[in-house]
Amino acid sequence: MTGVGLILKALEFASHRHRTQRRKGKREIPYINHPIQVASLLANEGGETDPILIAAAILHDVIEDTVNSVDERRELMSEISAKFGEELLALTMEVTDDKTLEKQVRKQMQIEHANHLSIRAKKLKMADKITNLRDITLDPPDWWTHYRIVEYLSWAEKVVEGLKGVNPELENLFYKTLAEAREKYL
Ligand code: ZN
Repeated sequence: MTGVGLILKALEFASHRHRTQRRKGKREIPYINHPIQVASLLANEGGETDPILIAAAILHDVIEDTVNSVDERRELMSEISAKFGEELLALTMEVTDDKTLEKQVRKQMQIEHANHLSIRAKKLKMADKITNLRDITLDPPDWWTHYRIVEYLSWAEKVVEGLKGVNPELENLFYKTLAEAREKYL
């Protein structure tokens, strides 16, 4: 499979998996726009050209957000492995939270694990955090209090501490986006 072929196949697969979901903001954007933005950010603002990384960015929330049980999760993992290969599955798993754990535990684990991720996973996670900060600045979920937004910003900053040193453009962009968000919410 060519790089473009792989990326298109990932788009087809992820848009089907996320087809009924919307983002949290008031604009209720289709969920698939989020992984597309993460992939686009990596390529267009981060200068990344690795098709495995771009395809993993497109698939990055599929396991975390489109299964409801351990069995479904296992099934989806073997489907991704069969369609896209072990390497892409492994990278996707690196950035997937274990939803059987409490939310606070998962958030703490992201901070602790960031530094141990592969280089590709660090880039992907950095782009994911930038995209989320942009969304929160432009279109925060209705039910998020000011306090929750400010908390989210400091949490994202802590995770990104562990992701540094893999892509200077993305790193600068993260801090620029964080500063813009803080300006709006402080
Ligand atoms: Zn994401």
